[in-house]
Amino acid sequence: MNSSQGDAATRSAPAVTRCLSLAMRRHDDSYRYALPYRFGERYEVSQGYHGAKSHTGESRYSIDFAMPERTVICAARDGKVIEVIDHYDRGGWDTSLKSQCNFVEIAHADGTVAVYAHLVCQGSRVAEGDVVHRGQPIALSGNTGWSDGPHLHFHVLGPDGVQLPTVFSTRDTDQQTLVEGEVYSHPGDESWLEWCWCRLCGLVVG
Ligand SMILES: [Zn+2]
Repeated sequence: MNSSQGDAATRSAPAVTRCLSLAMRRHDDSYRYALPYRFGERYEVSQGYHGAKSHTGESRYSIDFAMPERTVICAARDGKVIEVIDHYDRGGWDTSLKSQCNFVEIAHADGTVAVYAHLVCQGSRVAEGDVVHRGQPIALSGNTGWSDGPHLHFHVLGPDGVQLPTVFSTRDTDQQTLVEGEVYSHPGDESWLEWCWCRLCGLVVG
């Protein structure tokens, strides 16, 4: 797979300003983000923090997941959709395409904003104003904007528009800082697993 990276989606002040009414204005550093794909799936981080290709400067805490186009993207955290762009249909390793990146932005209760970028044309599954829950499908991945291969670009912005480091729950641990070159499996949704166990207990007992 061509696990390429691009940073068309560095979003900052305007969207953040709109979500300040939600803000506690400080990132909840204890929050463990969900991997932004479906239960049972696993993808490689093709570019991590401080990635030499494009995760430098203001993009230094971005994460790229290499995945085929039209992979279902799920919310990494509860929040409210504040911006959706999904009408672009071009992508390539050309900075002139930086502004032609499809993305979804979701504001969290602590005033931070998650950005899911390079989505496929007309691939959004949510609209501005929607309240979404962790694990909910929100879009299909793609290769739009400044990007030289199919992948999902993810980052979280603080209320000041500056990217923040994030920690994830993975199958191995709930305190995972994702590292370039590693593959991460989605551990599943706790409430779904609980539901399964209850069903199993019910079957055994009954
Ligand atoms: Zn990226």
